[in-house]
Amino acid sequence: MSDDASLRYTKGIGPRRAEALVSVGIEHVADLVAVYPFRWEDRRAFAKVADLRPGGADSTLDLRVVSSRLIRTRRRGLTIFNALLTDGSGTIKAVWFNQPYLERVMTAGSRVVVFGRASLDRYGKELVLDNPDYERLEADDDTGIHTGRIVPVYRKLGGLPSRALRTVLHGVLEGLKEGDLDDPVPAEVRHRQNLTSRLAALRAMHFPPDATSMDDLTLRRTPAQRALAFEEIFLVQLALAERRRDVEKTKRGANYEIPDALRVKLAKLLPFKLTGAQKRVLKEIGEDLRSPHPMNRLVQGDVGSGKTIVALLALLVAVENGYQGALMAPTEILADQHARSILSILRASGSDVKVTVLTGSLKAAARRRALEDIATGHAQLVIGTHALFEGGVSFKRLGLVVVDEQHRFGVMQRMALSGKGTRPDVLVMTATPIPRSLALTLYGDLDLSVIDELPPGRTPITTVVRREQDRGKAYEGLRQEIAKGRQAYVVVPLVEETAALDLKAATVFAAHLKKNVFPALTIGLLHGRLKGEEKDRVMQDFARGAIQILVATTVVEVGVDVPNASVMLVEHAERFGLSQLHQLVGRGAAKSYCVLLVGDGADGESARERLKTMETTSDGFKIAEKDLELRGPGAVFGTQQHGLSDLQFLAAILRDPQLLDDARDEAKRVAADGGAEAVFSLLGAGWRKRLELPAVG
Ligand code: ADP
Ligand code: MG
Repeated sequence: MSDDASLRYTKGIGPRRAEALVSVGIEHVADLVAVYPFRWEDRRAFAKVADLRPGGADSTLDLRVVSSRLIRTRRRGLTIFNALLTDGSGTIKAVWFNQPYLERVMTAGSRVVVFGRASLDRYGKELVLDNPDYERLEADDDTGIHTGRIVPVYRKLGGLPSRALRTVLHGVLEGLKEGDLDDPVPAEVRHRQNLTSRLAALRAMHFPPDATSMDDLTLRRTPAQRALAFEEIFLVQLALAERRRDVEKTKRGANYEIPDALRVKLAKLLPFKLTGAQKRVLKEIGEDLRSPHPMNRLVQGDVGSGKTIVALLALLVAVENGYQGALMAPTEILADQHARSILSILRASGSDVKVTVLTGSLKAAARRRALEDIATGHAQLVIGTHALFEGGVSFKRLGLVVVDEQHRFGVMQRMALSGKGTRPDVLVMTATPIPRSLALTLYGDLDLSVIDELPPGRTPITTVVRREQDRGKAYEGLRQEIAKGRQAYVVVPLVEETAALDLKAATVFAAHLKKNVFPALTIGLLHGRLKGEEKDRVMQDFARGAIQILVATTVVEVGVDVPNASVMLVEHAERFGLSQLHQLVGRGAAKSYCVLLVGDGADGESARERLKTMETTSDGFKIAEKDLELRGPGAVFGTQQHGLSDLQFLAAILRDPQLLDDARDEAKRVAADGGAEAVFSLLGAGWRKRLELPAVG
């Protein structure tokens, strides 16, 4: 990438904005145009002032300024800008706070297009527009940047709010010419696949043409989105193809024997009868283990479906064949939890398999001992976090790696893992309901097993949707469960543009519960800003019952087993994806409840409809499908930037399996022709990191 593509030299971006963007890793024009909107707003249709109703929908109005006035409050130096606006059908007042420069923008007689919602003023008499979005348009122009079109809405980035990003991106995209941006999709591929040019796709992604349907946009199925989705899948597939070639060139998997004597020995270990689904999946794994090819299998199973025992049996096959087995969990709590439950199963049956735990928080001496045991092979079963595969850890004879709750790890990390030492077998376990077609394609050669049956004796979770007015009743239910010795989660959504504000909201809410609602109970708080150890400490306090109500932002660890927690109250449930909710909800054997509180906001009604799905089914796949249909991929996979959710266009992919196959075929073709390096050389730092390619420069 040449230096004149640096944002510092781009017209319309001052040094301040450039610096703000560079601070969040957006250095070049190419990085900036890849910051996609997370939704769009339809501001095409113009309304008339005479038709406005208080509390009605947001509308676009084409107005002329009748008069205006800037007021400065004497204390605290705030400014209030009032304008009286008209479109001939009526006049309306608009108010903006702390934007004194509007005095120069909205001079009497000038035209201004605004987008906002009318409400009654504080005397309940007149309609006002409170802080509407606005724009000056030329007399003969109906399409602005912020109004009169479908406008992109961005997440705040480097301190720049959505409106500023919109302005910047509009300018940048207008200023680019075909050929200015590097295109990682080779021209002949683009041609063969009938994809629009990259620049055209980017323009339409940010500023959709007027004829675009809002549904198509939301579901990511416009031609522009299809072209950009192709690009993403193509790159991921190309990186996977390259990685696979490296791995296959040098490494082979271990093959194991599973004689009858071993089967009998393992069967004795089981504390319960396996479900039919667990047996089926174990058989599939057994076949992989005996074959000379390295295993590469994904096991999907709902929360509580019993994936751990399946993993343990596979690991013991490796151990009994003289190899080491490793189980990697995404957090220390989960690693410890696995270690405890596995040790208790092993010891109960008199097994003397040597288990070693390796996490980041081990003290120096303990860590040294663990590393030594792993290196000498004394450690037969190693349980830990990603610390297992960091520098300094070397296994004597690693045969099988099990990765638990895989959606927290990147696609590429999995490949890197299998590239360590001799090529181990890899088993990945996840509770995320990734549709089969997607899993197979995204993970390339990964085989898939599904545990689609819960162990017997589970009382299904009762889920109810409640309105704000029933909050008192919901609290009362919580109190009753806790009086029985149970514990509760209260989950608050991430709503703000910045983590700091979310943290404040969660903190304030926890304090409110403590002070006004449950003064006699112990309340803990878990949020994304806590450090790993602090998070683990809070979770451990909850697990051992020292905390009765745990207020949490969405970071409640999906895999954590706190069987005594029997209620989950979800605040503003309408802001969550159904799949997210599903994975949060209880897993203990006792009867558990989930209360979904829905706010009274404008979309409360449709939200209640959507959430009703949770009252009628507890099938993770069905819920995921509904989510994809109604809300797109962010709802299913979350919006964190890692793993699967890195892919912006999951919905496009899911609906268009052909697109996936095409992208994969083209990637294989390019890889086979030795063209991968040329493609990768065009990628910026962000993509290189996602694909785990070596950094350049
Ligand atoms: P997950 O798939 O979410 O990781 P776990 O492996 O933690 O689920 O299993 C959840 C609980 O169910 C554990 O307490 C486990 O001991 C229990 N369990 C697993 N399989 C069975 C079974 N076949 N019969 C009875 N209980 C089982
Ligand atoms: Mg688990």
